[in-house]
Parts: sequence; structure tokens; C-alpha cells
Amino acid sequence: MAWFKKVRKPIEPLSKNKPSRVPEGLWVKCPSCGEVIYNKDLASTLNVCPKCAHHLRIGAAERLRMLFDDEWVEYDTDLQSTDPLKFVDTKPYRQRLDATIASTGMKDAVICATGRIEGIDTSVAAMEYTFIGGSMGVVVGEKITRAIERAIDGRLPLVIVSSSGGARMMEGALSLMQMAKISGALARLDRARLPYVSVLTDPTTGGVTASFAMLGDVNIAEPKALIGFAGPRVIEQTIRQKLPEGFQRSEFLLDHGMIDLVVDRRELKAAIARVLRFACPEPRREALAADGPARAVPLGAEASAKAAVAEPAAAPAALPAPPS
Ligand SMILES: [Zn+2]
Repeated sequence: MAWFKKVRKPIEPLSKNKPSRVPEGLWVKCPSCGEVIYNKDLASTLNVCPKCAHHLRIGAAERLRMLFDDEWVEYDTDLQSTDPLKFVDTKPYRQRLDATIASTGMKDAVICATGRIEGIDTSVAAMEYTFIGGSMGVVVGEKITRAIERAIDGRLPLVIVSSSGGARMMEGALSLMQMAKISGALARLDRARLPYVSVLTDPTTGGVTASFAMLGDVNIAEPKALIGFAGPRVIEQTIRQKLPEGFQRSEFLLDHGMIDLVVDRRELKAAIARVLRFACPEPRREALAADGPARAVPLGAEASAKAAVAEPAAAPAALPAPPS
């Protein structure tokens, strides 16, 4: 006979039916260091882990809140995909769209707005990854193109924050055409001598990287963001070679000259504002005009366009010529 008997029942594992007393989403576990973070603390650090500085993804609305000084004006909020190909994969694209619109409260994967960044009026497009992987379909292409044209019309600088899996396969070749359309609009922006800052966040891949995300006058990436065209797994299988450590991450791309800066999200707004102050023609032009007629620079867009055509496309350096 045993001296000790197990009279008590073992501790029951938490059954799935029993609701947890901790409210949903109050704590977030950092995917990098495993630290459990109170979500209000996370909001104050712009979704950056306070322990290891891992950058958790943030939505488009939050991004605009982070960038703009105060209120902003949103445009083209009612543009919605018409499902031109009547595409069906595991389920009809129409159903997928309706479900995503209901869950995100957005009509497509980008928000375009104008507002002030450290006092500088700017046209901003921010992509939303939770909307079908931030994929670029006809609506995203059209909205971003309009944001660029708004910048040209209003003589505003442009900032695009990318967070995307690439072109939207449910819209086939029509999504691929957006790459050319946006790039064309960006060329017009360049000819109008207006600066474009591209912000690449985790992840920026596929057709978005292959078009506008890499076309910034200054390309800024967030730390450790995945940035590439095809994913590392696909490349590894294709070339049958082991890829180097940190391949397709921001720091790797910076080392290899693909991007200009890697900036912590908490310093991103200040960094963008610094670039805009340096590159914005308006305040500079006023400052130059104040110094006297000898420093006058071409004012009309046509004159600037001619000057821009004659020069290489590196716009941060393409400031008005210094006085002789
Ligand atoms: Zn962490």
C-alpha cells in the first residue's frame, strides 16, 4: 500500500470554453524578445517594443496620426474595387473584399490625405497591410496617383508609406498596370521639382517595391523591415544557394546602397520633416526671394520642368542653383 495517495485532481488545463478574465488585446507579446507589453505603453512608443526596439506593424490611420501635426483631410474615401475579372480563388474576390471592408472599415488598402508635417503642408499616402496584405489593385493605384497629382497641383511634397505584399493577384494585369501609372505620375512630380520621400515599412515586397517604393528622392526604411521583390524562400529555391544573414532586411539594403536611411519609428517624423525642409521649393524660394533679385530662381512649373529634364533625377541634390 502506498503511503501517499493522490487524492486531489490534477490542475485542469484552461479549457477553451472558459473565458479568460484578462480582456482581449490588453497585453501584447513582442514577437522578437517575448516581452509582454501593456498595449497603452505600446501606443506611447508608436508600437515599438520598449525593451528590444522591435517595430511592430501599425495601421494606415495610426501612421497618419503619427506623421501629421494635427488634423488632416482625407481624399477618395469611397473608391472601391469593382472586381473587374470576377475573380474566384478559394472564395470569390467579391466576398473577400466585402469581408475585409467590414473588418477594417476601409474601402481599400491605402489612405491618402493632406496635412502638416512639422508645419509643412504635405500629401501623404499610407498603405494598410491588414487589407488583403496591403496589396495594390486598381483602387490603390488610382488613389496613390491622385495623391501625387494633388501634390503637383498644390505644389506640395509627397510622402508614401509602403506596407504591402505587392500587386493584387485578384485583379491580374490591371494591378500590374498600376506600377507604370504611379511611376509615370512620379516622373511628372519630379519634373515639377517636388520632393518625394518613400518610407518602406515591414513588409514592402513585390510590385510595390518594383515601382514607387524604390523611386523616392530619399528612401527611408524602418529598422529590420522586410524589403524585396520575391520572398527569400522563392529566391533560395530558384538559385539553390543559401542566402546571407539579414538578406532583404533594411540594414542589409542600406549596406548595399539600395536605400538611403534606416530610421527608428520614434524619430521618423523628425527625419521626414528634415528632408522636406531641405528639399521643399516653397519656403526656400521665399527665403531666396527675400535675399534680393540676384538670387531669383525659375518660378513657373514649365521653367522648372525644363530644368529638371536637363538634370539627372536625383532630386535631393536638385535644389535651385546657388547664386553666382
Ligand atoms: Zn521586444
